[in-house]
Amino acid sequence: MPKVIVVGGGYAGLAAATALAEAGHSVDLLESRGFLGGRAYSIAPSETFPAPMDNGPHLFMGCYAETLRLFRRIGVEKNLQWIDPLALAWLTPGGREVSLKCTPWPAPLHLAWGLLFSNAFPWGEKISLARALSAFSRKPFKIPPGVETVAQYLEATAQGPKVRERFWGPLCNAVMNVPPPVAPIEGLGEVLRRVFFGSRRDSALGVARLPLSEVVSTQAKKFMEGKGARVLFHEGVQSFVVEGKTVGVKARSGAFYSADALVLAVPPSSLSALWPVGTWDAAAHFPQMGKSSIVSVHLILAKPVLEGHLVGLSGAKFEWVFNRNANWGLKMDGQYLSFTASAADDLARLKDPELVEMALKELSDRCPTARGVRVLHSKATREMAATFVWSRETDKLRPPCETPCPNVFLAGDWTDTGLPATLEGACLSGHRAAGKILGPQTPAVSPSGG
Ligand SMILES: Cc1cc2nc3c(=O)[nH]c(=O)nc-3n(C[C@H](O)[C@H](O)[C@H](O)COP(=O)(O)OP(=O)(O)OC[C@H]3O[C@@H](n4cnc5c(N)ncnc54)[C@H](O)[C@@H]3O)c2cc1C
Repeated sequence: MPKVIVVGGGYAGLAAATALAEAGHSVDLLESRGFLGGRAYSIAPSETFPAPMDNGPHLFMGCYAETLRLFRRIGVEKNLQWIDPLALAWLTPGGREVSLKCTPWPAPLHLAWGLLFSNAFPWGEKISLARALSAFSRKPFKIPPGVETVAQYLEATAQGPKVRERFWGPLCNAVMNVPPPVAPIEGLGEVLRRVFFGSRRDSALGVARLPLSEVVSTQAKKFMEGKGARVLFHEGVQSFVVEGKTVGVKARSGAFYSADALVLAVPPSSLSALWPVGTWDAAAHFPQMGKSSIVSVHLILAKPVLEGHLVGLSGAKFEWVFNRNANWGLKMDGQYLSFTASAADDLARLKDPELVEMALKELSDRCPTARGVRVLHSKATREMAATFVWSRETDKLRPPCETPCPNVFLAGDWTDTGLPATLEGACLSGHRAAGKILGPQTPAVSPSGG
């Protein structure tokens, strides 16, 4: 069996490495940091914040076929709990709760019925929303000529203020991590197709039962080592060379590894730095894919103020609040809440106390019981390069899995998957890279993931 080196232990690298190890290949996974999971990781409790923190709340969806395939492979599917049928609630300024609750019927009837009885949108806006969504029921999408971005699509389909504030805005920010004027409508449309027009289960929301690092890292390492693979931490890769059918990889530690094939599952700027100068023009342009931030605020309050797994804050910068007591089954007197703001470059520049104050105010304006509640602990986390900036321009820079070197393959949420920079895009890319190495007889990407 050929030997394969996978560089990068994020979800893309993990999908590739575990698939290859499962198929019997000898695999070395080289990761520059001391843990697996890449951009989806947890921070251990500390003196300043006495509970584990995820670097940002990560949501899963029922249509995440490739992510679930990875989870099943390494035996961690049970670490997800599902909101199925999909149900969302928002708190509005002034303290009213509005919701969208789908029914346990086949898609898209489950959504149509949910919309019909939702009190989150006025009647006229529901009809224009349903019409705008139906354009994505199948490919090719029915997008008006000349419309390229999500914002242009909302204008062209006359979307009203409430569906923009509660549906399109938060959805576009959360899924694409760029605002509607930047996000390509084809990209969001592909997500809408997968979420709402497959089976009802595809639109279920998955919430991890444990902090992210506990969900995947330990078990992924155990799985790979059980298959004879090596997982090498603090082994950042500096360069690689291809000599005929052999690939040589040099680590910053000075160690040298060789293999028959190489999967580079690293972010765009790392790949650009790794790629031998002058051998592939495209590689020099990858840093132009840009960076978009996600900011989170974590609060432990003296008493519980919210119910359920998550709630939307209508019209707020922190669009979603996750209730960690419910997510992780925490037993405590108070309540642990994680607020998240996507496409948040403006917030990322603020200091921690300003972010905490903003999150508290946005919550208190919408949840009267939160007013005056004592904050026992608070912390802000920022991911300045949470995702690349997916726009019409950067779309052209997304590279395929194949490279000019026949035995070197790319993976990562930023490569040309047709999906936004998400866990699912990362896993799809990793499985594709593994598929190229495993050959055509081995179906490496599940039908819905292709
Ligand atoms: C705060 C936050 C919230 C998010 N929320 C969601 C969500 O709710 N749902 C969702 O689906 N997605 C979400 N995402 C996106 C998701 O986390 C990413 O799309 C996914 O984790 C990317 O995986 P990846 O493997 O492509 O890249 P990465 O996770 O970046 O993995 C790359 C790995 O390569 C390593 N590396 C880099 N250079 C080298 C080198 N030279 N040598 C060796 N190793 C190297 C890095 O250390 C890293 O571990 C969120 C992201 C963030 C940051």
